[in-house]
Amino acid sequence: MDWRAVTWMDCCRAFILIWVLFNMISMIVYASNCEMDCPLGDVESLVNNFEDQYGIPIDHFGVAEGTRGVGSVAAQEIVEVANLPENVEWLKRIRRRIHEHPELAYEEFETSKLIRHELDQMNVSYRYPVARTGVVASIGNGNPPFVALRADMDALPIQEAVEWEHKSKSPGKMHACGHDAHVTMLLGGAKILQQRQHLLQGTVILLFQPAEESGAGSKRMIAEGALENVEGIFAMHVSSDYPTSVIGSKPGPLLAGCGFFKAVITGKGGHAAIPQHSIDPILAGSASVVSLQHLVSREANPLDSQVVSVAAFNGGGALNVIPDSVTIGGTFRAFSNESFYRLRQRIEEVILGQAAVHRCTAVVDFFEKEDQFYPPTFNDKDMHKHVHRVAADVVGVHNFKIVPPMMGAEDFVFYTEVTPAAFFYIGMRNEAIGSTRSGHSPYFMIDENVLPTGAAMHAAIAERFLNEHKFRTKKL
Ligand SMILES: [Zn+2]
Ligand SMILES: [Zn+2]
Repeated sequence: MDWRAVTWMDCCRAFILIWVLFNMISMIVYASNCEMDCPLGDVESLVNNFEDQYGIPIDHFGVAEGTRGVGSVAAQEIVEVANLPENVEWLKRIRRRIHEHPELAYEEFETSKLIRHELDQMNVSYRYPVARTGVVASIGNGNPPFVALRADMDALPIQEAVEWEHKSKSPGKMHACGHDAHVTMLLGGAKILQQRQHLLQGTVILLFQPAEESGAGSKRMIAEGALENVEGIFAMHVSSDYPTSVIGSKPGPLLAGCGFFKAVITGKGGHAAIPQHSIDPILAGSASVVSLQHLVSREANPLDSQVVSVAAFNGGGALNVIPDSVTIGGTFRAFSNESFYRLRQRIEEVILGQAAVHRCTAVVDFFEKEDQFYPPTFNDKDMHKHVHRVAADVVGVHNFKIVPPMMGAEDFVFYTEVTPAAFFYIGMRNEAIGSTRSGHSPYFMIDENVLPTGAAMHAAIAERFLNEHKFRTKKL
């Protein structure tokens, strides 16, 4: 070939030909890496998410090695499956069966049986019993990383006041906190994850836990090995504060620490007309109640929310008798461990001190042995970010809210002490059907349209966590 005869135009033509060929090959490779209906916008967000936030290398076709099944593409597939009409009907059926047969803490035998039956139907393996009635199931390749999802199973000692077809059939017991929905959504998540097992880059551990309302079931689950090797745990709670399927959470302190106290103050009983012969415990108790009110108003930082409430004062009976003893009791809440444990210490000091001033003795019980002592719940920053990102994919970025902390408490806190964790809310408020009452009300009800969204959130959170953790482990 005579190179002197090659013109500038020949060079341009050759360059254009190579460019066209390169793009054709790119399209073929791209199509083989992605679902045929995969919208380009999703791949772009996948690239941005991964390259920017995790430093995971993205190849020049926009697909990171092994990322199929991660991010918004996977979330859309998961949401579609969750909302299939037959799946929605199945979720409603399960939730209604659990709602009709509520069981209190550590008595969730029928609920547990239903869970195991559904897991058997899905061919999901599990361990039972854990913490008396609990079930620990696993889905995936059996290898690390391990991520846990938690649902609580217990009901409350409340008589249901909602008149509907599937009202509680157990007098005096009711799923008034939505734990029937929690179990259902986790079973829904299990079904989706089992169908996507081939995409899981590790193992999902499903915790069906007893005794959240009382008895700290989470502590027993941990003691019986439920969190072994787990690198992160997530749980969601239905909330009537937010519209159906809106997700809410926050990093850092989310739920208050909750403690209870009961003090027996003992003096010396006698005739109320001759007080000099008695040592009056009613006076000592009254002084204690007044002084306890100063702990928050005078000792706490006004910007650090705390509560001390005396809710019981029992003693005496006859109007002319000073009793031997009185019992006072109540609850205290705080959002930091420091404030929480300081309140505990000061409550004891104040009651013992006021008893001594009035020549009485006192014994204060904080029910620590009975597991009635829940420290504040903190969301790990990275785990919260994970929930935020997944929620943006599952329900849309505008349906995720940063929520204020609340004074309620959760035994989920004991999981957070063992492994990075995040707790979040899923709204189920629907004025049209009246699902506006907050938890623990006899009129509590949920909008069942939340169930497929909750199932999708569980599945998407776990699948994406495993994929991202696998990369991180690789990088290390
Ligand atoms: Zn509750
Ligand atoms: Zn609850």
